[in-house]
Amino acid sequence: MGIRYSKVSEGNKREVVLLKSFPCKYGKCSFCNYIEDNSLDENEIESVNYETLKEVTGEFSALEVINSGSVFELPKSTLEKIREVVIEKEIKLVYFEIYYGYKNRLDEIRNFFPGIEIRFRMGMETFDNDFRINFYNKNFEVNEKEIKELSEKLFSVCLLICVQGQTKEMISKDIELGLKYFESITINIFIDNGTVVKQDKELVEWFIKEYAHLLENKKVELLFDNKDLGVFEQ
Ligand code: SF4
Repeated sequence: MGIRYSKVSEGNKREVVLLKSFPCKYGKCSFCNYIEDNSLDENEIESVNYETLKEVTGEFSALEVINSGSVFELPKSTLEKIREVVIEKEIKLVYFEIYYGYKNRLDEIRNFFPGIEIRFRMGMETFDNDFRINFYNKNFEVNEKEIKELSEKLFSVCLLICVQGQTKEMISKDIELGLKYFESITINIFIDNGTVVKQDKELVEWFIKEYAHLLENKKVELLFDNKDLGVFEQ
């Protein structure tokens, strides 16, 4: 049971759909349990996705597609269905998710949706290479030059904060770099989810006090719970 359709009615207003996809090609991030929603059965994927996409009305002319992986793991049939809905409902802006390894393939998606603005989000989680690689098990390294290059391709990055092992300084630095380079950042306060990564409650308390002002910042989307976008599978 879960909810696969939702709306964000403030800030970057958009409809949000959580679609089913093939398994995430990377699949190794230590905090990730999203991939439990993945499937190898294209018929099952199609039937879930087609039902979900029927709910889209186009009311904000903007649609966010989340798929527990990257847009490249959606079957072609789903991408075609999304394109059909986008045209029919006169949607002008679509958000997709990608993993770092797909960063040089973004034009394939842009070319698939001619005339539509496509905004990509990527899970950076932290700009601290050591923590990202050794703790989050996200196997890529970025220096500041590459962060700048990524900021030219991506609309936003997600940061995962308040986990045990992180420090206040790391979180502050991540927010600073995210805001410096990207049009938008999504900050996820980590919630225990059965993986080895655990929330640090003291950091959560500190963050809420110290960074309450981010709620007013239009460049920031703050998720106190990963269900805050209104879509989730259980
Ligand atoms: S890339 Fe995304 S979906 Fe894949 S394992 Fe990492 S967090 Fe999970």
